[in-house]
Order: sequence, then structure tokens, then C-alpha cells
Amino acid sequence: MSATISGIGISHGIAIGKVYRLEWGKVEVYEATIPKELIEDEVAKFRRAVRSARQQLKAIRNSIPENTAADIIDFIDTHLLMLEDTMLTAAPVELIRQRQCNAEWALKSQRDALAQVFDEMDDPYLRTRKDDVDHIVTRLQRILLGEDTHTDPQNDEQLRGTIVVAHDLTPAETVLLHHQGIAGFVTESGGPLSHTAILARSLGLPAIVGTHVTPQQVHDGDAVILDGARGVLLTEFDDTTLKKYRRQQRQQQKRRSELRGLKDKAAVTLDGTRIHLLANVELHEDVLAARRAGAEGIGLYRSEFLFMNRSDIPGEEEQLQQYLSVLKILKGLPITIRTLDLGSDKECGAEPPSEHISPNPALGLRAIRLCLKHADLFRPQLRAILRASAKGPVSMMIPMLSSAQELNEVLTLIEEVKEELHRERLAFDRNIPIGGMIEVPAAALSAGLFARKLDFLSIGTNDLIQYTLAIDRIDDEVTYLYDPLHPAVLRLIKMVIDAGRQHDVPVSMCGEMAGDPRYTRLLLGMGLRDFSAPPPSLLEVKNVIHKSLMTQLAAVVNDILNNDDPAEISELLVILNEM
Ligand code: PEP
Ligand code: MG
Repeated sequence: MSATISGIGISHGIAIGKVYRLEWGKVEVYEATIPKELIEDEVAKFRRAVRSARQQLKAIRNSIPENTAADIIDFIDTHLLMLEDTMLTAAPVELIRQRQCNAEWALKSQRDALAQVFDEMDDPYLRTRKDDVDHIVTRLQRILLGEDTHTDPQNDEQLRGTIVVAHDLTPAETVLLHHQGIAGFVTESGGPLSHTAILARSLGLPAIVGTHVTPQQVHDGDAVILDGARGVLLTEFDDTTLKKYRRQQRQQQKRRSELRGLKDKAAVTLDGTRIHLLANVELHEDVLAARRAGAEGIGLYRSEFLFMNRSDIPGEEEQLQQYLSVLKILKGLPITIRTLDLGSDKECGAEPPSEHISPNPALGLRAIRLCLKHADLFRPQLRAILRASAKGPVSMMIPMLSSAQELNEVLTLIEEVKEELHRERLAFDRNIPIGGMIEVPAAALSAGLFARKLDFLSIGTNDLIQYTLAIDRIDDEVTYLYDPLHPAVLRLIKMVIDAGRQHDVPVSMCGEMAGDPRYTRLLLGMGLRDFSAPPPSLLEVKNVIHKSLMTQLAAVVNDILNNDDPAEISELLVILNEM
């Protein structure tokens, strides 16, 4: 007896526990006429729901651990403020009285009216507030319908050890749930390179996304097994299966503790080639995880996370303080701060206002393009990074570079900001290394040009694959096409590594491919020496490095690079990994 739900396994590991369904998708609401004499009861019911929602949110806010990123708290504060707004509290009451309808229908009608207003707004920031209205309305509807909203922190203990099943999770929600001790999660939508997925890997939470599971398939309290590596959720299973998974779980734990033994060992191949292993981080707590995993520093600090889930833009001082606190944890280890990579899938509440709505955000005003257009957003960040460089080994990295002109513009701006700081007698490292991300095929094809002008290059395979293969990294419908082994991708990576070598400029890789031990030998054989990966992957990668003989890899790696056949490439990779 077995039943499974399949999806995309985005974070390995086995979790065994009970289902905890989180606010599932849309709530169905129907219109009902309320007899005149009961109208005020309906109004009272609505007001009670608003009070309950406020209490729930306040309780959530109070339960957030102290070390939680400020952006997550801001996110909840925004919702609390919206619950004070008459558009959401008084207007539905008027509708109940005027139309003599039920509270749920009044709330739905008001939501639809607000949504239309938001849709017609020119300001993209305000347009995104529609999602916040929807979150609040869903919470209220569930209270009105007597459904458990599952967000009362009294339930915190109930969350511990559970497997959360949801329509979707934002990165902020993922962090919160992690704090509440969930064992893993499954979402109906989402792709392997969404930021929620990247976070799950950073936090070491087994997870599956893109299941397209319908609400009827799982129920609260169902015992399930989540296999993150295979991307399956077992909803029915017998004792033998359960025992098998428990055994696997124990083996995984044992393996993890064995791997922890590698933490303080240098990453060196069997024949003595020294490799550098650094970590990718998004949140403050990842920096601690990076240290625990023995990272030699931070190879990618995704600074945009400081800008998410809040309605204001952090100023220079706030950014500086954030960088300094990370430097403190790193105790002298190097950090590469990537300048803002906003836009596309990385929505930020406080994005600069624009008249223009990008028809295709991944190809639009994203990352460095957005920053160059909005110097008011970029300059304070450049100042903060430069000022942080006075206090520790900081490098700066520019995302999404695609042309020489763009690069020149950035470098000129950095020089201007340096002069400005100098005039103001503010300390910074004049020789701060400036690097660029190679994420666009155009940049990979002209890597020599970038290498001549920059101190280092870092290959962002997440985007490089997206743009090379023309597949949206967050669209689960095309996930099957996402292939790091595609010959075109491998050739571009090789071109970048070779260009770096030719110009004596270090090349690292900070895309997710660098953290996948299946590709470690291939990348070593291609000449990569600097890897930056999510903290939980670092020891797995180090383990492969320790077992690799560089002299043995070259021949098979060459065969892979000269092959166009995906099936043969996969076979060769197996041979390479079994050597
Ligand atoms: C990448 O594109 O590979 C990368 C590391 O950047 P991000 O995933 O943040 O877009
Ligand atoms: Mg990228």
C-alpha cells in the first residue's frame, strides 16, 4: 500500500511527520441574504473576525525570535497596519448593511473593488500591495468561515516537527516556519531556483515544490514521509516502508555527523590541489551556518534580502551596520557583498517607482540595470559597502553585467563614490576588489573583456542557465528543461574559466551548481578552484574534493565537453563520479 505526491525536490533530506496545512490557496465564498433583524449580528461577527486577525498577527509578531531579520517583522507590521485601515474594516460593514449580505460576501466585494483600484495604479510598488490585501482578506475569510488559520503561535508547539503543506511560501514565511521547528515543507507551486528554494537549502530544510497537489490529497494530521532528494511525499505507506525511511534518515544523520569531521580540514584533492570553499548567504543566520560548515568566507552575500518585505528602503547607515555585524561574525574571513540584485523574481516592496511595467521582468530592468537607472538607490549601497571595507576584507560584486558600456558606467560610479567618501574623510579600502557576475551568455562569451577590467569573476549558473536555455527559473512548467549539463552551458562555463586563467583573474562559481556534489569533479576538471555554495552543501562538496585525483579527471571531463549528446554526457558524468 502506498500513495505518493510528486514534485520537484529542492532540498534534500528525509522528514517524517504529520501534515500541517497552511492557508491553502483561495477561499470559496458565496453570497447569502441576511434577514434584516440579523444584520447587526453579521456586523458584529465581522468585527470579531477583524479583532481575531489582529490578535493572531500580534501574537505572531511577539513570538518571532529576537534574531529574526528586521524585514520579516516589517512584513507582519505592514499587515497589522492594514487591519487598521477603514478600507478593510469599515467598508465591508457598510456593504453588509447596504446589501443585506453575509460578512464573507461583503469582504469579498470590497476586496474585488480594492484589487481593481490597485490594478489600475501606475506605481508598481503600490500594485504589489494587492498581495498584502489578499493575505489579510484570506485570513479574515478563514476566521469568518471558522477555519483554522494555523498561524496562532499558541500552535507553535503543534508546528514543531510537522511537514507544512501550502500553496506557496514566501522566503519570509519560510524563515518563520523554520524558527517554529518544522521538519520540512511541500508547496503546490514554485521552482527549484526560487528564493524560497534557495533558502530551504541554506536552512537545510527538506522540501518539495511544484507538486500541483490538490487540497483534497492531504489532510491535517496525516502521517507522511517527505523525501527531498526524490521529490516525493508519501501519503500512504506500510510499516516496512516507514522502517526503510527511518533507517535512511538515521544513515543521513550519521553521514552528516561524519561530514562535520571535515569542517576544519582544508579542501585539497588527493594530489594536492587546493580548492577554496566559500558560502552563499541571504540572512544573518546563514552566516553562522556558514561558519559552522567551515566556510572560508562568504563568496556571495545576497544584499537584496535586506530590502525585501518592507515598505521603505534601508539607508546607508542601516546597510553599513548590517555589513559590519556580518564582518563581526566572520572574524576576519573575507566576504563578497553583491550589490542589489532586485527585479524579476526578487520583488522588493520598496522598489523605486516607475511608470513602466516590464512585460518580461527577467529581461527587464533588473539588478545592475535597475541600480544604474536609480543612482539614489545605488549610491547609498556603494557608500555602505565601501565604508564596510575599511573594517574587514570586503569585496564588491556586480550582478547581471552584460556589456562593456555598463561595466564602465559602474566602475566610473564607484570611483566617484570613492572620491566623495575621501572628501568626507570617511574610511574605506581604496583597493577593494571589484568583481562581476557572469550570468548572461553575452558576458560569458566576452568574459575576457570583463576579466581585463575586474579583479575577479563569479559564474552565476542559476541565471546563466536561465538565459542560455531561455527557461524561466521560477516557472515549474519548464523546470524539466533546466539542465546544468547542457553542452551550451558547459561550454560557456569553460570559456569563463579559461578567460580568467588567461588574464590571471580568479574565477569562482556561486550558482547552485557549485553546491551540487554531482558536478564537483566536472567543475574541478574544467579548472574551477573557487566554489561558493549554500552552507549545508559545503561539506558534501569538500568530501568529493578530498576523494578526487585531478590527474584522473581531465580525460573524462574533456570527453564530456566535446560531447553533444545529453544521454552520453550523463553516462560520462556517472563514470567521472565513480572513479
Ligand atoms: C545565480 O544567478 O547563479 C546567482 C548566484 O544569483 P541569484 O541566484 O541570486 O540570481
Ligand atoms: Mg543571478
